[in-house]
Amino acid sequence: MRRISASGKMISCPNSPQFCSIEPNLWNCSRINSGVDSNKALARLHDLKIMLETKATDLIVKNGAVVGVKAMGKNGPVEVTATKGVVIATGGFGSNVKYRQKVNTGIWKEAKLDERIGCSNISVAAQGDGLIMAEKAGAELIGLADIQVHPNGTPGTGLMLDIKTSGRNRLFINTNGDRFVNEGAARDVLSKAVFAQPGQTYWLVQNHLRYPDENAIDLLSGRTMHDMLEQGRVKKAKDLEELSEMTGMPLDHLKASIEEYNRAARHEVQADKFGFRATHTDDRPMTEGPWYFAKKVPTIHHTMGGIRIDTNAHVLNAKGQWIKGLYAAGETTGGVHGENRLGGNAVADLMVFGRTAGRNAASAK
Ligand SMILES: Cc1cc2nc3c(=O)[nH]c(=O)nc-3n(C[C@H](O)[C@H](O)[C@H](O)COP(=O)(O)OP(=O)(O)OC[C@H]3O[C@@H](n4cnc5c(N)ncnc54)[C@H](O)[C@@H]3O)c2cc1C
Repeated sequence: MRRISASGKMISCPNSPQFCSIEPNLWNCSRINSGVDSNKALARLHDLKIMLETKATDLIVKNGAVVGVKAMGKNGPVEVTATKGVVIATGGFGSNVKYRQKVNTGIWKEAKLDERIGCSNISVAAQGDGLIMAEKAGAELIGLADIQVHPNGTPGTGLMLDIKTSGRNRLFINTNGDRFVNEGAARDVLSKAVFAQPGQTYWLVQNHLRYPDENAIDLLSGRTMHDMLEQGRVKKAKDLEELSEMTGMPLDHLKASIEEYNRAARHEVQADKFGFRATHTDDRPMTEGPWYFAKKVPTIHHTMGGIRIDTNAHVLNAKGQWIKGLYAAGETTGGVHGENRLGGNAVADLMVFGRTAGRNAASAK
């Protein structure tokens, strides 16, 4: 984005373009357009042609080298000849239920990642098309069982909408009104704990500490609490009695759960029975309403496995040899993050390897 701005071709909005493909319904129009605009600006800069609504279906291989792509466009099949190389950047496979079940032999093998589990990516993306095309062209796929599950899914879709599970002063409470995990734990620990709860779901409960002003924009979701309430995906209760009535969580359990957390937040105990420690300056006892709450479920968030590449973004076969003309970058690749990606590192991954792949392809003879 900075490079486009520096070139004098300003774009309308400084928000991250990568989100456009993953959650268009979450971001407002100016943000969606910023992704498309930035791509268009880049295309103008480098004299590129962008083919929207065109699905790549196959790589064209000649004498062991990748020399083009077959695709299905709005008006029928398309073939693109690649004189310098093809870069696969089609994202992960989290939305492809059959594929993820086939490779689910790792830490989630007991969880059954079937159609009842959603995905935080929109479903037309993240189908693993790039992996499938690359494998057909001889690429090795690695680490496919390394799937990241996030506890912040919206029931039904798995999209990560509205109030977030990240940050402080938010409680995970099951439908019996009981806390069941240290809310500060890692995503996989939280998700595993949710899978063990009745209905594999929980109420995410926050209060005015997190949302002191209903009209302020929540930086994590890009929405105001006022909007979230109006759309009905987050609910509000004035006190614990009302919260209990609205959710069906027994009041005595609810009160005991919150008090358990508050004892740690008040530093009366070093850690509560789940291991929660109030070590952050933002950790405060949650005593007063209004309370804000939403039901959440685990969702497939990131697939760490994929196409094997080297540090030049070359796609490799099982012998570690480069498949000439083929590069890959981003979530379609495997092995960059090990078994579990740290939050924030996907953007670093796609920026570094996207640039490397593009540069190497552009300078190919
Ligand atoms: C809700 C959410 C929040 C996230 N937050 C963060 C964060 O804060 N920090 C961070 O580092 N990471 C975050 N991630 C992860 C990160 O955004 C993704 O890993 C990253 O966007 C992957 O980038 P990519 O370019 O490899 O793939 P994608 O962004 O998935 O883009 C792939 C593109 O290829 C297209 N495509 C797929 N198949 C085909 C085909 N056959 N033909 C043509 N086009 C195709 C897709 O439509 C899509 O536009 C988040 C992910 C989600 C879902």
